[in-house]
Amino acid sequence: MLGEGIIKGMGETARNFLGSYVSKKRLTTLQYPEERAPQFPNARQFPFLVYDGEDPEQGLRCVSCQICEKECPPKCIYIVKSKDKRVDYKGQMQFYPATFNIDISVCMSCQICVEVCPFESIKMDTEFELSSTDRFAGLLVRKPQLAKSNDHYRKIHPHDAAESDAALAAEVAKVQAKAKADAEAKAKAAAAKVAPAAPPPEATLAK
Ligand code: SF4
Ligand code: SF4
Repeated sequence: MLGEGIIKGMGETARNFLGSYVSKKRLTTLQYPEERAPQFPNARQFPFLVYDGEDPEQGLRCVSCQICEKECPPKCIYIVKSKDKRVDYKGQMQFYPATFNIDISVCMSCQICVEVCPFESIKMDTEFELSSTDRFAGLLVRKPQLAKSNDHYRKIHPHDAAESDAALAAEVAKVQAKAKADAEAKAKAAAAKVAPAAPPPEATLAK
């Protein structure tokens, strides 16, 4: 029948409109900002940098490898690598980002930076209330604002954060096992140097 779809659509609208007076389920409008819709687990807005522990600077996982900067399609990441190194979360000496900025007015939330990062350092945040009256400086997010704790990550993406924690724990265990094996091999070599091997029994008999 001609116009059947329109009539069905209008009927559904009328059902929701009248039903919203008696059922909260049919009231789809929220009084934002007082009321907020819950975030979906896979919601993503702009990237942030994860840090472990209490110190946002010392605990940053980022080792300034600059892969994300190279791979970012609109080139909105700007990194300056440190000149010195410091101990990272695995107990190894690593570079760190002296500067790490993201221009979120250019970022297209593609998540490529997250996918290419080999160190679980950069993740997508769900924060979306970032409007600013300053088109340039107001939307250039710098390292101190980008640094957010692993607890924040666990809160916004619990499933992904658990996977990331497990991957890092496996990495740390691997590094520790290698360090232990190296230390044992070193100790063995040193002991062998101090105590020269006893002469073979035939050599003693010949004397
Ligand atoms: S989400 Fe995409 S556009 Fe935004 S910083 Fe990462 S790679 Fe660049
Ligand atoms: S966020 Fe990851 S990919 Fe980007 S520089 Fe840091 S360690 Fe490298």
